[in-house]
Parts: sequence; C-alpha cells; structure tokens
Amino acid sequence: MSICYINGSFQTKFDAMVSIQDRGFNFSDGVYEVMYFSGTNVINFQKHLKRLNKSLENLKIKYPFNNSKSLELIIKKLIKLNNQKEGYLYLQITRGNAIRNHLFPKLAVPNLIIFTFLANLDKKSVLGGVSIGLTDDKRWSRCDIKSISLLPNVLEKQQAFEKGFYESWQIRNNYITEGSTSNAFIVTKKNEIQTHPTNNFILGGVTRDSVLEIAKKLSFKVKEKAFSITDLKLCKEAFLTSTTVRILPVVKIEKKNVYNGKPGLITKTLMSKYDDFIKSQIND
Ligand code: PMP
Repeated sequence: MSICYINGSFQTKFDAMVSIQDRGFNFSDGVYEVMYFSGTNVINFQKHLKRLNKSLENLKIKYPFNNSKSLELIIKKLIKLNNQKEGYLYLQITRGNAIRNHLFPKLAVPNLIIFTFLANLDKKSVLGGVSIGLTDDKRWSRCDIKSISLLPNVLEKQQAFEKGFYESWQIRNNYITEGSTSNAFIVTKKNEIQTHPTNNFILGGVTRDSVLEIAKKLSFKVKEKAFSITDLKLCKEAFLTSTTVRILPVVKIEKKNVYNGKPGLITKTLMSKYDDFIKSQIND
C-alpha cells in the first residue's frame, strides 16, 4: 500500500484527505515540486528547495517548517516507508483551508502533501527522439512560479498527444518559450546550445539549470537567449529537459525532421553526462 505524507503524518494514499475548503482545490492557490529519487537520495534537492521557496515567496505562502532539515527527513522517511528503489516525489503546498473568498485568509495554515509515484513514460521508447508540435503560449506571464494551476499545460499536452506528439513547444511573439512540460533547447549550426533565458515567461527548470552547468564545464558554447521559429527550422539539433525524462532528443517538429531526423551528437553527449551527474548524487 502506498504511503503519503500529509500535514504531519504518514498515511495510506487511500486514507489521506484534504478539506474541500483547501485553497489549492478551490483556487489553484498553491505550488508544487516534482523530484527524482534513487535509494534515499533526492537528486538536485537543493535546487528544488530553492525553487520551492521562491514559488512560495512569490505567492506569499509561508514555508511550513522552521528547521531547514525537516523536509529532508520527512522525504527520506517517506521513501523508506514506500520501499521503492527509485521513483518520483510529488510535493504540494497550498495556502490552507479557508471559507471561500479570493482574499488571503488571515489564519489559514498551509497544507503540505507529499507522495511518491513511478513515471508513466516508457523511457526506452523515447530515447531515440520524440516528435513535438508547436502552439501559441496561452499561459499567464508568471510562468516562473511553479504553481499548481496547470490548465493551459494540461490542455496543450492533451492536444499534442492527440496529434501524435510528445508535447508542444509554445510560442510567444514568434519566439519559443518552453514545452508544455519541459524546457526547450536547440543546437545551432555554430554548435551553440541555445535556450530561453530564465525570466517570467518560463519555468526555470532544475534539469535545465544542471544541463547548462554541465555544458559549460564541457566547454560547449551556451546562449541563454530566446530562439525564433526560423532558428528552430535551421537548427542542427533540438532537445528538451525535465526531471521526469532528463534529456530527450527532439527529432521532428510539426512532422518535419530536425536536420537528419536523428538525435545529434551534442544532445547524446549531454544525455550521457547528465546520467553520470545523477549517478554522482547517489550514495546508497
Ligand atoms: N517547464 C515546464 C512548463 C514544466 O512543467 C517542467 C517540468 N515540471 C519544466 C519546465 C522542467 O522543469 P524541471 O527540470 O525542474 O523538472
């Protein structure tokens, strides 16, 4: 039976309950993180924690712990209770329960839930490269907040799936911002790795951040500058990043091949180095 953490206790997923007056439930008034774990090691934990704190600060929701170690200890215990060798953690913090009113409640206590899950993606089937679509970016202008309000992303992902794509890359004013569930990258003809800069129009991905650090260490040229649809058509390689899939080569865009339709050399190098980087964080 799968165990989750909810507001101070460990319960079976079946027994865990939140109030119908939870602000996340009523207003999407909350934030979340998805993290990968292997053994009891949470990969890129400090980066996830930093982003979680930033999201909470932006929504003026109080971080629910005084002790910086508390969350780490809860997560490690949760992983042990679930007896899973590896998987993903979903963590959600909402503003808490309150009588319905848009204004922030004065006394609400944040609701914190954490559960583990397995990826529903057969990674082997996508490692050779995925096909993506293009769509208008219909989201708000605070995409940097990892808010639980994901309706545009959900609709885009579903539409992409129905067209046979892995996801869609979103366009704002002729420039690609990011995927519906990932950060988007190209490799230009000059072998520069290019991706949208971190600002309010994208979610600053933890994987994006680590991949850029690795690329710089390997002396690849990195350009954090938005790329246009034309740049995308002319690129040599394309790939996407997220915690759940790490790095996936993008070999087709709107049914047209990216370059020769095969994962590129720089993408493959980064995939292998990123796997090594994850392994280096696993010590049990
Ligand atoms: N952008 C969006 C819109 C996403 O949903 C995700 C995955 N949650 C990412 C980027 C990648 O973020 P991360 O690497 O931290 O998983």
